Amino acid sequence: AQIKEVEFLKSSGRAKDCPKDGRPEFAILGRSNVGKSSLINALVRKKEVALTSKKPGKTQLINHFLVNKSWYIVDLPGYGFAKAPGSVRMDWSAFTKGYFLNRDTLVAVLLLIDASVPPQKIDLDCANWLGRNKIPLTLVFTKCDKMKRGKRPDENIRSFQEVIRENYRAHPPWIMTSSVTGLGRDELLLHMSQLRNY
Ligand code: GDP
Repeated sequence: AQIKEVEFLKSSGRAKDCPKDGRPEFAILGRSNVGKSSLINALVRKKEVALTSKKPGKTQLINHFLVNKSWYIVDLPGYGFAKAPGSVRMDWSAFTKGYFLNRDTLVAVLLLIDASVPPQKIDLDCANWLGRNKIPLTLVFTKCDKMKRGKRPDENIRSFQEVIRENYRAHPPWIMTSSVTGLGRDELLLHMSQLRNY
């Protein structure tokens, strides 16, 4: 299940422009600052990989990384820039929704949720939308090491699951992670390798 090799393949502006080689892929999605780059770097154990997509102009694109020459990690634009004007937010959703609804090779969306804060509306909306549209989803809770007094990642996780429940026939799989301690890294890699083989 380990990642031996990763290469940045391409950035696409539209779902139509994504690679057409039929390789399976996992899309990584979440609010900006959720810890997406840290998680990708922890999975890949390389500093420079996710940084490629942080270059100016690349953050609003669909970025394909080829792993072990056989499957893709897809870095999608972050959502929830509080200060973004309405039109920018609209662009995000039209374009990203097009990708979810039309991408046959998408094995699952890994939706990153910050476990150190109570459920946020924008994350719930996103999880519910994916559920209603029957897009396969795995919830990846980030920053699970943040255990300050009064801040309970496990309680935040439980409330999140309760709210989204009605939009799913079966509750989506979920994994607790921390890029600081490495929690969940191997579990997530194993999970992805199992999904690829089904
Ligand atoms: P991105 O905008 O989603 O790519 O988020 P980053 O990976 O850049 O992380 C945003 C901030 O959260 C940074 O200050 C990170 O150091 C911090 N962070 C990311 N992952 C973790 C984690 O697992 N635990 C803790 N405590 N902080 C984290």
